[in-house]
Formats: sequence, C-alpha cells, structure tokens
Amino acid sequence: MSDQVLKFLMGDGAVRIEAVSLTDTWRTLNQHRNLPPPVNAMLGELVAASTLLAATLKFNGSLVLQIQGDGPVRLAVVECAAGFGVRAAIKLHADAEIGDQASFRDLVNTQGRGRFVIVLDPKDRLPGQQPYTGFVPLVGSTLAESLDYYFASSEQLPTLVHLAANEDCAAGLLVQRMPAEGGKEVTDTDAWDRARHLAATIKREELLGLPAQEVVRRLFWEEPLDVKAEQPVRFSCSCSREKVAGVLRMLGSAEIESILAEQGKVSVNCEYCDTRYEFDAVDAAMAVRGGPDAAPGSALH
Ligand SMILES: [Zn+2]
Repeated sequence: MSDQVLKFLMGDGAVRIEAVSLTDTWRTLNQHRNLPPPVNAMLGELVAASTLLAATLKFNGSLVLQIQGDGPVRLAVVECAAGFGVRAAIKLHADAEIGDQASFRDLVNTQGRGRFVIVLDPKDRLPGQQPYTGFVPLVGSTLAESLDYYFASSEQLPTLVHLAANEDCAAGLLVQRMPAEGGKEVTDTDAWDRARHLAATIKREELLGLPAQEVVRRLFWEEPLDVKAEQPVRFSCSCSREKVAGVLRMLGSAEIESILAEQGKVSVNCEYCDTRYEFDAVDAAMAVRGGPDAAPGSALH
C-alpha cells in the first residue's frame, strides 16, 4: 500500500492535493550509492518531487528533473517515466567537501550559476518534435522553494510544495490552486487559503514517518476530499545492452580500439541503476558496426 502518489481535490475542485511517500522504491533506487547525507536528502527530494509533478500533468511520457550544479553536486537527474517508474543519477565533484548541514543551495548553486530544468518528453514523440523544457529558477535555499516559485511564475499556479528525504524514505506534499476551467466558476473561493494554511503545518518528521494517506488525513481531516487517484510508484530503469551498444557506436571504432587495447574489454555501468554491461573484442566490434550484438550477448554476466 505504500509507495503511491495520491491525488485529491478539495473545495469543489478549487485545490489539488497530492502526497507521496516512497520507502521500498527509494531504497531500491538508491541502494548502490553511498552519498553524504545532505546529497542523499536532496536526491530523495528530487525523486519525490518528480512523482508529484508528473501527477499534476495529463501527459503520457517521461518527466525529467535535471540540475547542473555549480557546487559539490555536478549533476543530478531524476526521471519519472509514464506509469510512475522512477530512476535517478547523480555526479559529485571528486574533491567535494560537503558539510552535514549543507542546504540545497550549498550543494547546487553556491555561485548562482546552477541550472535546473524540467523536461517533458512525450512517449510517442513525432519526428522533429522537441521535448518541452521549463527552466526552474534556483531561488531560496530549498528545492521546494524553487518549485513553488516555478509554478507561481511560469505556470501562474499558486503552489506549495513540501519535501523531505532521509535514507529510508522520500516524501512530499503538494497543494495547488486549480485554474478555473471552461468558464466554470470556483464556488469555494476560500479553499486555497484554507489548504495552504493546513499544508503549512506539516512537519518533516510526519512526512518521513507516516504513509502518504495518513499525512493527508491528519492535515485535511476537516475537509471533504475527492479521491482522484492512487498510483503505484516503482523503481524502473530503461537501460539495456542495445542502448549501451548504441553509445559504443557513437564513440566510434578508434575510441573502442583504444579501450580494448588498454583493458581487453569494454565495461559500461548504467549511471542510474549501476548494472554493468561488458563487451569483449568481438562484441564491441559488432556493437560499433551495429551488428547482431543488439541481442543480449554472451559477454553479459
Ligand atoms: Zn540502468
């Protein structure tokens, strides 16, 4: 029952409420990493945020949150694919010094040159169609503040996002004022004010310690809520031997020859799930030519 993103409407459709709490998914997604606690928390918050944002959209495809940091975190990428399969990758600077209390800003925007983008990539993208890219200003000291600002400025939707993560749990809550649709008047004009005041009382320990359903129940118990959806979230990586072979092809035969000469084989680890793909000289040559190695090969252990 856990690891779901929950969607509700409040105040006769005037306010959207979403909550997510990920335990198994988060641990599976992150089990091969040993990140400093502030970086771990940041990545967990990004994962929770990706599911909340994906749940706000009527969209069939992948939502990607990508941060190019100018601080200790060089790159953080979280993808929430259609059907709420999430995966994440992170790269730190080799000599990064990270204090226990480092904030989101300390990690990715120490000099004001960090960049944060949201990419929406439709599942059935037409030839020539570009994915949508939205730029999220890195304001304030938390990821949630940046997202609040993004919704208010780019989407004209007043929004409050709360995020928290530790080793065991990645969780979040989103409340958003809904736009009036199709000329339909919002009857409950006070609903947004009530919702944001209630949401503001959430504590970090509650987000991390309670199932999403219970978080919503505790905050909004006085409000009749319409349950819109309960969608399971899971870890999912779309890497494959075929895709790695494609990367080798792009590197070209000269580069591959030089790796083979040095190491006797080509090994590639998926940056998201750490699965290792190995190609011996024959497999690598076939991959570069785009040959039959596209099928799962003998060198995969
Ligand atoms: Zn993978």
